[in-house]
Amino acid sequence: LEFSPLVTQPGSPQWEDLTSTAPGPRMNATFVTLARNSDVWDIARSIRQVEDRFNRRYNYDWVFLNDKPFDSTFKKVTSSLVSGKTYYGEIPEEHWSFPSHIDEEKAKKVREDMKERKIIYGDSISYRHMCRFESGFFFRQPLMMNYDYYWRVEPSVELFCDIHYDPFRLMHEQGKKYSFVLSLYEYVETIPTLWESVKKFMKNHPEHIVKDNSLGFLSDDGGESYNHCHFWSNFEIGSLNWLRSQAYIDYFDALDKDGGFFYERWGDAPVHSIAAGLMLKKEEIHFFNDIAYYHVPFTHCPTGESVRTQLRCHCNPKDNFDWKGYSCTSRYFEINGLDKPEGWENQSD
Ligand code: GDP
Ligand code: MN
Repeated sequence: LEFSPLVTQPGSPQWEDLTSTAPGPRMNATFVTLARNSDVWDIARSIRQVEDRFNRRYNYDWVFLNDKPFDSTFKKVTSSLVSGKTYYGEIPEEHWSFPSHIDEEKAKKVREDMKERKIIYGDSISYRHMCRFESGFFFRQPLMMNYDYYWRVEPSVELFCDIHYDPFRLMHEQGKKYSFVLSLYEYVETIPTLWESVKKFMKNHPEHIVKDNSLGFLSDDGGESYNHCHFWSNFEIGSLNWLRSQAYIDYFDALDKDGGFFYERWGDAPVHSIAAGLMLKKEEIHFFNDIAYYHVPFTHCPTGESVRTQLRCHCNPKDNFDWKGYSCTSRYFEINGLDKPEGWENQSD
């Protein structure tokens, strides 16, 4: 079986077939989007690009989730754009509210303090519910229980290259459980005690920590401290069964009890990344170099001119963030003993 994006050469019979339905099996997989009704036109742009570059030939389903009921405009616009089936779910109150063990007065003081310190989303309640939901609940919504793999899509993202193979199938056949296109350092102010909480979890649940893990991606001192590297979670293709595993649920519950989603502003990106880094084997985390992606303010534009021309990419390679100083992707390559793609040196400044 061939997964190389380069398998389809311009002018070949397969090249002409790019407008038709892709042959081969489909995985038990879905796109998933958390959105508000007011996000409709921004998510429409994202869907159009995902469809044009990939899904019009694969017709995977799309699940939309919201803490409020979706309105008819949202449903009409999105269902007209998605080539697969669309489903709309309302998140139950208990997955989008303060859990009973949280001291709401204390949480309020934190928001006021973060507002003064101008920490991004520091004063927002809804952003915290969103981060907690994406950390611990999206994968166990009733509509998601039917699937094995998910691909997260946010409003206003861009895809710059054709995707000539099925990433879900790559995940399945190569045993991948989590994947990313961009990585970077988290704002320290949003997660001051996250690593303390993680260390406590590791001590209480050594059975969940995998031997050949990616601790070296997360820590420069053997786990004493966190270096703040994380995979950017606005793009994710991953295994739902992994997120629904006892290991991940124990991890989420431990973090949730410590209260940092509300007493600090823990993001789902570091939460997912630390889980993947400690509880998956190194080789279960995949980097999709050939999926070209933008979410404000960062771009992943594939390194390597031949990849970009054959996949009809429209990103400027100078915008590629991978090899710049604030990216953690070099570190991922190093701990995995991977060779960086040809031309990476030219994109490092
Ligand atoms: P950022 O990427 O960290 O700046 O955060 P976004 O504003 O893009 O939010 C992340 C995701 O959660 C996006 O898919 C949003 O549409 C969604 N989202 C954020 N806040 C809410 C909310 O209050 N309700 C709902 N239903 N979705 C939200
Ligand atoms: Mn976003």
